[in-house]
Amino acid sequence: MNISEIFENLDYGKAPEDAKLAYSWIKENGNFGHFIDGKFSKASNIFASINPATGEELAKISDGKKQDVNRAVKAARLAFTGWSATSGFERAKYLYAIARQIQKNARLFAVLETLDNGKVIRESRDVDIPLVIRHFYHHAGWAQNLKNQFSNHTPYGVCGQIIPWNFPLLMLSWKVAPALAAGNTVVLKPAEATSLSALLFAQICQNVGLPKGVVNIVTGHGATGAAIVEHDDVDKIAFTGSTKVGKIIREKLAGTGKGLSLELGGKSAFIVFEDADIDGAVEGVIDAIYFNQGEVCCAGSRLLLQESIEKKFIKKLKARMDKLRLGDPLDKMSDIGAMIDEKEVARVNDIIADGVKNGASLFQAKGTLPKKGCFIKPTLFSDVSPSDEIVQKEIFGPVLVSMSFRNPEEALALATNSIYGLAASVWSENLNLALDIVPRLKTGVVWVNCATQFDASVGFGGYKESGFGREGGAEGMRAYLKRDWEKKLKPIAIKVKKSPSKTNLVSGVDKTAKMFIGGKQARGDGGYCVDVFDANGNVAGQVSDGNRKDIRNAVEAANKASTWADKTAHLRSQILYYLGENLDYRKGEFAEKIRLLTGANKAQAKKEVETSIERLFAFAGFADKYDGKVHNPPMRAIAFALNEPIGTIGICAPDENPLLASISMMAAAVAMGNRIVLVPSKIAPLLMSDFYQVIETSDVPNGVINIVTGDSLTLGKVLSEHDGVDALWFAGSQDEAKIIERVSTGNLKQTWVTRGQNYNWFDGEKMGGEFLLEKATQVKNVWVPYGV
Ligand code: NDP
Repeated sequence: MNISEIFENLDYGKAPEDAKLAYSWIKENGNFGHFIDGKFSKASNIFASINPATGEELAKISDGKKQDVNRAVKAARLAFTGWSATSGFERAKYLYAIARQIQKNARLFAVLETLDNGKVIRESRDVDIPLVIRHFYHHAGWAQNLKNQFSNHTPYGVCGQIIPWNFPLLMLSWKVAPALAAGNTVVLKPAEATSLSALLFAQICQNVGLPKGVVNIVTGHGATGAAIVEHDDVDKIAFTGSTKVGKIIREKLAGTGKGLSLELGGKSAFIVFEDADIDGAVEGVIDAIYFNQGEVCCAGSRLLLQESIEKKFIKKLKARMDKLRLGDPLDKMSDIGAMIDEKEVARVNDIIADGVKNGASLFQAKGTLPKKGCFIKPTLFSDVSPSDEIVQKEIFGPVLVSMSFRNPEEALALATNSIYGLAASVWSENLNLALDIVPRLKTGVVWVNCATQFDASVGFGGYKESGFGREGGAEGMRAYLKRDWEKKLKPIAIKVKKSPSKTNLVSGVDKTAKMFIGGKQARGDGGYCVDVFDANGNVAGQVSDGNRKDIRNAVEAANKASTWADKTAHLRSQILYYLGENLDYRKGEFAEKIRLLTGANKAQAKKEVETSIERLFAFAGFADKYDGKVHNPPMRAIAFALNEPIGTIGICAPDENPLLASISMMAAAVAMGNRIVLVPSKIAPLLMSDFYQVIETSDVPNGVINIVTGDSLTLGKVLSEHDGVDALWFAGSQDEAKIIERVSTGNLKQTWVTRGQNYNWFDGEKMGGEFLLEKATQVKNVWVPYGV
């Protein structure tokens, strides 16, 4: 036998990791209770935690009930006052100590994670635990520097955190580290299948002397998570898990004003152009989809290959798949471990069977499955079409679907054809091409010539139905902080209006203010009008009573104007200046109208118009300044964070300061490249219908700003239901906010609702800057490795 034959034929010997330490830890600790107020409670309502690779029972865990959640929230609330008042340095020391302790116990953590979850030791040892440690170190730095990096910010309070089973300790660290750094206290529920590493983490919290009640861990099932979500005294919920449960939580929190971040599912595209490093890309796709058995939210599960390399690529990929070693997760030679449980195996196998039944070509890697345990072979489907269920649905297992494309436009069309928007991977040796594709992908993360990279300094999170909010980096910290003035907002004092007299009917030529859709004045579809009254209750004019069809037309026009996002920030800035300039020409006329409609005195009306002009200038100034950051993760790569527009934003403006508020919201959204459909307030429609004449003379491209008049709640609801609307800003009462946020759940729009609170629109520091710009943008992190 020569050497090359030995390479081909010699089997790998087993190299099992020693699990003694982990087993003795489990044995020592017996049945696990909850970790509340710094101590473990007695185990109660126990259920078993199973090793999915062997079926053996590892430990008994307590199923948290409402009263357990109540105790945990109470402890977190009590601890909040002290914890939020500790200095950044004190909090940094605790986070640093936690990082050190995990580092010292890294092997125990890695083995425990592998036993409990089924993931291979190679991954828990080299990926999960090192990233956890990095997360706590990184966030020790945020705690230390919080005051100077986030001045005038304050923690939410008590944060409820709910995590899934695929990266148990890593997901815990993504949630706990930033929350604690910001000064919050937490009640965390691990997934029922994987609580052990969270319980070991609780002991670490005890060991480092973390003040009691700062971290509380309540184990249990979905109902335990629901009890945290529904608890009145929880200020923010951070959830990672399925889009289905994410939507349930969104609905439950509607109108409550609680913070919410959602990290949900994905169906990420892995795009390979013909000039890519093919062998590198094959390794990349193996990593993207078969890492962690494909139980990865951002798994590159849709392979898109340029037609000219398809055959060659698939051949290499299949050969590589055949070499993957599947089996004992504790064996350091295993590449693929066990799925989380039998239910998941059955679910994924059913999807595979359906794929075959529907005509897709199936390839599964060589080799036999272990006799027991929850295993599925690496699977590849080809001959699929874009609408097939296996192409659209998140499978959450080791199943890849492959399609081909002819040119970059086709690649983009396929890549963006998904309800999800978590991540994407782009492979090309031509960086010009790759970077041209990057901003056009609607995902929160893009990996260029790499896949599945993470770091605590680089934000992670999705677009569209993959959720909102980020974890990691500055944007991840922001998700655990509120502006202190926002926490102190008071309800708007209700003004008693004079009842309409209707005596002063419109005289002369009948004038009905039009709507403004796609750059043209438009009459309402229904043909109905509503009276607009002045401050004395007399009819001041009429506006069209917009309906569902008018909103549909406006959204269509807005979406057609999507190239607004590709225009240079300089151009967007120039157009906003131009709007300001043109409003300035007509400021007397606008001030008169404000007086008439709102009853403001001359000085107040003048101030509102002048501040509106100033606001247009403020956001014009920001258009080319509110940009991203470049990160330096600890590897040969840069990661740059882009502040991207959200898309089409529906805006229902408030009655207060009707011109200024509408213009502030419009200018912030448009400055960042969004298109808007604006529903002016009850008082403002005549002001805004005059404003379209300003728009018409200011070079605003058609469809970027659309104005639909009518009842704000009715039209707001239509906007919330519309899947073509990506975000909704709604000024109205708390009850209205509840309706709007509930209806927005359909495509998980990002919402901002004022809940009847008194925002000071005149305050340029608050309403003329980052507060609105943050709402108008979402962060995309782009990874680009370097080196030859
Ligand atoms: P689930 O959404 O079912 O569960 C996630 C967590 O929520 C678990 O702790 C679960 O408890 C709990 N939970 C279940 N129902 C409720 C409820 N009504 N209210 C509050 N909490 C509840 O997801 P899985 O755990 O099954 O994880 C798989 C899914 O998670 C995949 O679809 C994947 O896409 C997604 N995921 C997304 C990630 C991301 O970062 N975007 C990361 C990891 C997974 P229990 O375990 O007891 O059911």
